[in-house]
Amino acid sequence: MERSGDFQTITLNGTSIPCKISRKSKNRITLRVSPEGIIRVSSPPGIELDTIRDIIFKRKKWILGKLELTNKHKADSAEKVLYHGRTYSIEVSETKQSKRVAILPDRGIIIINTYRTDESPALILIKKLRREAKRYLTERIRKISTAAGLPFQQVSVRDQKTRWGSSSGRGMISLNWRSIMMPEDVSDYLILHELAHQIHHNHSKEYWQFLGTLCPGYKEKDRYLQKHSYLLGFYRT
Ligand SMILES: [Zn+2]
Repeated sequence: MERSGDFQTITLNGTSIPCKISRKSKNRITLRVSPEGIIRVSSPPGIELDTIRDIIFKRKKWILGKLELTNKHKADSAEKVLYHGRTYSIEVSETKQSKRVAILPDRGIIIINTYRTDESPALILIKKLRREAKRYLTERIRKISTAAGLPFQQVSVRDQKTRWGSSSGRGMISLNWRSIMMPEDVSDYLILHELAHQIHHNHSKEYWQFLGTLCPGYKEKDRYLQKHSYLLGFYRT
């Protein structure tokens, strides 16, 4: 393992993989492969690096399997993008026209125009999706809040790394812009999930019961969100 900044590097089957060790765990070592392709180790403070390395080597097969999955999703996402639950093909053009990005639902394509800009197509796309997410999610939360009778103070559409959304006790709701990749009924569920936390600030039995009365199919939608949590690692700038 080599150290560079916050990260160590470990080589498994000829591939060097970044590895981040946090020393906060109380009594055991846990490993995770993040959607960005980083091995995240949580360990108690006293454990030697060699011991951690041995554990990583023992779980090599599992780690490489996870990484392969992450890379596959990344490669897929380079030419295609999920938008409101639908896969769009991406086309890059360089013509003089006013729109930087054109989303064409009937043809299932998104055209990115790189005429007279130094920005990469990926960055142009991310900016567009974030703007759309802000507009769409802000409008939806207002409607859903009124319809469900669940008020909130303020919403922010953000770039969280590990969660789809959160809700503070003071009526502040944060939504991950990447939820615009989800089908509309799933992003609506996410909004309702966070609004319902204004009544129950936890995931107690009472909370889920309450949520069930607002959204009968919530379990399926919650599973959908969990299953797609790898998308949280997408479009990092
Ligand atoms: Zn929750």
